[in-house]
Amino acid sequence: MGFSEAKDYGLLFRILKQRSERLLRPESVQGVMEHALQHRERVGVQDFVLLEDFRSEAAFIDNLRKRFHENIIYTYIGNVLISVNPYKNLPIYTEEKTTLYYKKAFFEAPPHVFAIADNAYRSLVYEHREQCILISGESGSGKTEASKKVLEYIAARTKHLRKVETVKDKLLQSNPLLEAFGNAKTNRNDNSSRFGKYMDIQFNYEGSPEGGHILNYLLEKSRVISQMSGERNYHIFYQLIAGGDAELMKHLRLQSRPEVYKYTTDLVTPASQKLNDAEQFRTVRSAMKVIEIGEDEQKEIFEIVASVLHLGNVKFVQNDKGYAEILSHDTNSTNVAELLKVNSSKLREALTSRTIEARGDVVTTPLDFEQAQYARDALAKAIYDKHFSWLVSRLNSSLAPKQKDSRDSVIGILDIYGFEIFPKNSDFLQATNGVKGKNIEKSRDILKWLIVEHFVTELVRASTIAVLISAAKQHCCNAVFRSVGRGCRCIISILDDECLRPGDATDLSFLEKLSQRLDGHAHFKSHQKVDSKTQKIMGRDEFCLVHYAGEVTYNVNTFIEKNNDLLFRDLQSLMASSGNKIAGICFKDLNLASKKRPETAITQFKNSLNELIKILSSKEPSYIRCIKPNDFKAPMSFDDKLVSHQVKYLGLMENLRVRRAGFAYRRTYEAFLERYKCLSPNTWPNFRGPARQGVQYLVESLKYEKEEYRMGNTKIFIRFPKTLFDTEDAYQL
Ligand code: ATP
Ligand code: MG
Repeated sequence: MGFSEAKDYGLLFRILKQRSERLLRPESVQGVMEHALQHRERVGVQDFVLLEDFRSEAAFIDNLRKRFHENIIYTYIGNVLISVNPYKNLPIYTEEKTTLYYKKAFFEAPPHVFAIADNAYRSLVYEHREQCILISGESGSGKTEASKKVLEYIAARTKHLRKVETVKDKLLQSNPLLEAFGNAKTNRNDNSSRFGKYMDIQFNYEGSPEGGHILNYLLEKSRVISQMSGERNYHIFYQLIAGGDAELMKHLRLQSRPEVYKYTTDLVTPASQKLNDAEQFRTVRSAMKVIEIGEDEQKEIFEIVASVLHLGNVKFVQNDKGYAEILSHDTNSTNVAELLKVNSSKLREALTSRTIEARGDVVTTPLDFEQAQYARDALAKAIYDKHFSWLVSRLNSSLAPKQKDSRDSVIGILDIYGFEIFPKNSDFLQATNGVKGKNIEKSRDILKWLIVEHFVTELVRASTIAVLISAAKQHCCNAVFRSVGRGCRCIISILDDECLRPGDATDLSFLEKLSQRLDGHAHFKSHQKVDSKTQKIMGRDEFCLVHYAGEVTYNVNTFIEKNNDLLFRDLQSLMASSGNKIAGICFKDLNLASKKRPETAITQFKNSLNELIKILSSKEPSYIRCIKPNDFKAPMSFDDKLVSHQVKYLGLMENLRVRRAGFAYRRTYEAFLERYKCLSPNTWPNFRGPARQGVQYLVESLKYEKEEYRMGNTKIFIRFPKTLFDTEDAYQL
């Protein structure tokens, strides 16, 4: 118990007496230390910097495992929080726990995501330094859950402040809404975020949340039209079908079984899931209400969602000339047309032909069967994707602070896109080695991963603590994103060049260029060469990159198409004419008149990432690194090998080394004295001199060795974490 909690003087006196005795009697201190040691043996150390053998990965994992089995999921490396997904609800987010972290330094309470949030909040409000919290980890490791806890903590922390409830409600309710449209069940995570999210919480001068702003990245569009086995499309499709009332369903012409729709047909939904989906639908609707999305807008949103389902069922037939046609009595296309309020024969036309402008002439060519299917799916993806972005901007207008105050400051939370880590020789690699055209979805994911690899590296680089880690990763990324040497180009620009080149660029011509230009690069392996170590021969449509986490083989299949992100003009202009206001807005922003080619997908993404990195680097970062303990979403199961791979990938051992190298802790004299003044007879009960002097007394009483600490201008710097933890133990016990 701390002094602040000792309300009656009798108790206070007793504690004081115990402490002064302890200070005077070395054997009593010995007892305290032994107790602490036993405790550490069982539950491990709360900060990895306290590990005796801090260079050993085995010791690192051992510590994580011990704690995990004691239901302690959080551990620090200095001020970096490591979180292991418990896959069960722990009673660690209660109101009582919340208050435990108010105004506490890291070592003053057990490691917790709340401590990260509190620290960021205090630095922002009291020291006026803008903050960002970067949450990384593989899919299913608990990033999104952690980001929600940060938000919930901040909402609770500012409870006493005036007139912020609606803003906080909106901030909190933005989660279920975005998750319905941007999350899906995957094999790795039942609620996997399929987009990257950066959210600013804006605070006014007195520290109350005033508003928020969300940036979204790279929604996985391919999921709208097909999913891997065992996975689902975006939650909202199933939620709408399970939870929409009879009137709405009739209006949307929807049947109540997702299996009848091609885009949601793959996974038969069990009854329990249907109940859950229906329940979630109610949550989504009430979230929309909080966010002030009115009935009319809601109707339009669901019309768009339903139209995507109907679009998927549009069937083509081949006419006698070999071209695609839609039969005039096809109800699916008329449903789409009516829901989106576009002309139905024009829609059929746009799905089966294409208008090209060449040197001033406008030529309409019919599409063959495959091209028509491609156009249909491209439209479905575009509608869903643009609608998702619209939803984010709609959220933003609702979250925008009512009055802009120049003193506003922000805490940003980055929930980094849920990338998957593929260890060497994993099933994944074998699968991709076997990809030969048929498995298009997988190769799309690979392109994404290539981008995300860069994303993560850059984020790590943006911080100061992790410069070392990035140096190791840098090499590989040079091949991907930066020019490597004179005359050489990086993969991204070679891909862009190929996409923009008039003529017949193909995936293979791209691969050819790549092999020529990157020949000899240490991190690039061409398909033309046999790997001397593994004797592995790559397929003729593959190349290999040596990433930080290991070698990954990429199949170039659909790289060009994916990067071009083509949606035929006719479909675009048709959609821009939609009487569904939201759909119209989504497509109107495209500058159809422009002769210039729009930026390729990868360049757009690269630019938005650079923008994000700029935002982040102007802020003080905190880190949450999430770890997935097993592949089965199971509680109490800790797979050493899986964890080891993540420890490597997240660069945690380097983190620890850097942390150990310097003065690990710093604290202002005032704060240090305030907390520990009871530990020296010279500072307790009253000390009236300057705080620096008080701290000087304290370190003398506590017998700090000379090399253990330094006295700075305003702060005490402590080199060895053990020093501080021992002091803290003495205080706590
Ligand atoms: P993705 O990259 O796929 O989006 P993620 O890292 O965001 O994955 P989450 O969705 O946050 O992963 O977590 C996956 C699941 O793990 C959650 O739905 C929840 O069931 C469980 N989980 C994660 N963190 C916790 C926690 N702190 N306590 C209890 N359960 C948790
Ligand atoms: Mg997530």
